[in-house]
Order: sequence, then structure tokens, then C-alpha cells
Amino acid sequence: MKKSLFYFLFSLWLITGSSITQAQTAFPLLKVVPWNGHKAATSLTFDDGDPIHLDVVIPELNRRQIHGTFFLIANRIDRKDEWHQAIKAGHEIGNHTLDHLHANTLTPKDENAQVVGAQNVLQKEFGVPIYSFAYPFTEITPGLEDWVEKTSFMARGGMDALVSPQDKTIDWFNVPAKVTMTNLPFDTYQSWIDHDTQSGDWLVWMIHGIEGTPWGWQPISRKMFTQILDYLQSKDIWIGTFTEIGSYLRAWQSFEAATIQASGSEAVYHWVVPDHCPMNVRLKVCFAQGDAPVQVWQNDQQIVPDAQRNYKILFNQGQLSLRR
Ligand SMILES: [Zn+2]
Repeated sequence: MKKSLFYFLFSLWLITGSSITQAQTAFPLLKVVPWNGHKAATSLTFDDGDPIHLDVVIPELNRRQIHGTFFLIANRIDRKDEWHQAIKAGHEIGNHTLDHLHANTLTPKDENAQVVGAQNVLQKEFGVPIYSFAYPFTEITPGLEDWVEKTSFMARGGMDALVSPQDKTIDWFNVPAKVTMTNLPFDTYQSWIDHDTQSGDWLVWMIHGIEGTPWGWQPISRKMFTQILDYLQSKDIWIGTFTEIGSYLRAWQSFEAATIQASGSEAVYHWVVPDHCPMNVRLKVCFAQGDAPVQVWQNDQQIVPDAQRNYKILFNQGQLSLRR
């Protein structure tokens, strides 16, 4: 009798004891799902508004339901209706200055006009916010970069490298890109893509001419272009516009640096939303250890996980809370 009472009390202590321990532990941590659920990411960017982009590139991307980024020279846009169509189809238009001049020829006043003036022209023409910028000839000066930072969310630079999500020192106004060249063999592009997949990085392509172009720099053959697309699509790589992927990565890094304040039955995450951040950036997050006995709330709305137990949160809110 005494013995069974002891075991009864002992098991009661185990049950209540363990539940008390659980209640006192810290809230489970949320982590970001890398690249929206893919192994790696890539963005195809095209420069200068070459007509071959309308004739060949965009139809090819549309056929595959891939979106690209097209950096246009604001004072040299031909076939505007077709660029409007491209935006409707989901492609991104970026700022490539007014006149595509060499950086060392610009006065401070010119720098302002080339960056801010061009952005105004493009926004007025297309009626959409312009988030991204690309430096002509990849020539970056402090004066240009200063205006770009004041007006844009991100800019593509020219450094020949992949972007790693672990790199906490990314210069968002000089994001590295790899350049296609007429003489490079397919093996080279294949190795970029393989390296990207293996390391879980972001590969930004800088593409100019395609075979048949009237004026594009360093054209590559149409066959080479479609081979690159085929190879990208054979991998678990998230293919998105420069701003789409870039904003996910910026959101990811910002979320990982969030401050967490826990009190009682609630823990509140706060993170920084950078200037000029596009609206409706959705970041996928999940609990490190599968299911957690807490709810995720944003702006007084509960976020329900999807079938993969991921929560799609609105980054622009700058906060979320976990509730028991
Ligand atoms: Zn250019």
C-alpha cells in the first residue's frame, strides 16, 4: 500500500514536474527556411534594354514561367508598350541611369540626375516602384552609390562572385554578379550553377547580348542561353528577379538578427525593415524542432502553418509574436 502510494506520488511528480519544466523553458526559436524552400537561388539580369531581350529573352522566359530583371537606360527606351507587357508578365524593370555614361565623366549634379532623374522617368513611364539599380560599366563611385542608397532598395555591382546567406557584410548597393561572355564555354556556366547549388548561394547573372542582337555587348548564342535555362531548371534552384531574391535574403538576415522579448505567455520578435523595402515580402519561417505548442501571430492575426509546417510571415510588419 505504502509502496504503491509512493509510486503514485512519484509518477505525479514526474508528470507535473515535467510540465512545469516545459512551461519554464524559453520559447521555441523560429528559423528562416532557406531560399523559400529551395537549395539555392539565382537571378537573371539583362542590361541596356537591348531589343533582343524583347524578341528572344522574354518569350523564352515566359514560356518557362521564369521572371528576369531588365535594367533599362531611361533616355533610350524603345518599344515601351512591350516593356509594359513584360512588367505585366512578372518581369522586373531596374534603373540603369539616364544615359549610360562613364562614372568619371559625371559632376555631382550629373550623378544625382543619372540616378534619381532616371528613377523618376522609369516610375512615371511604367507606373510601378523601381527598387533596383545597376551601375553602367559596373563603375561605382561614392557619389553614385550615395544616390543609389538614397533612392533604391538594392544595386547590382560587378564583382565576380556568388552571394552567400552566411555573409553578414553584403554591400546591398554593390551586389556581386557573374557576367556571360561570348567566348565562355557551357562548362563554365555549368560550374557556376553547380557551385551555387552545392554551397546554397545566390548566383546573379549579368547578361547583355544574345545572338542576332543589333547592338548588345558580348552576345552569347541563343542555344547557349536556352542551355543555361534548361540546366538551371533541372536543379532545385529558386529562380526569381533580382529584387525578389534579394529582398528574401535581406529579410532573412534581418530576421536572424531580430531581438526577442519574452514575458509570461508571449514572446515578441522585432526586426529592422530596410529603407525602400518592397511591400509584401513574405518570409518562410519554421520552428527548429518540428511542431511547437505555441501560436504565431502578426498584427493580431494568427499565421497558420502550411503542410510543411512553415509559416509565411509578412516581413514589412517588423514584428511577430509567439503565444501560448
Ligand atoms: Zn549597361
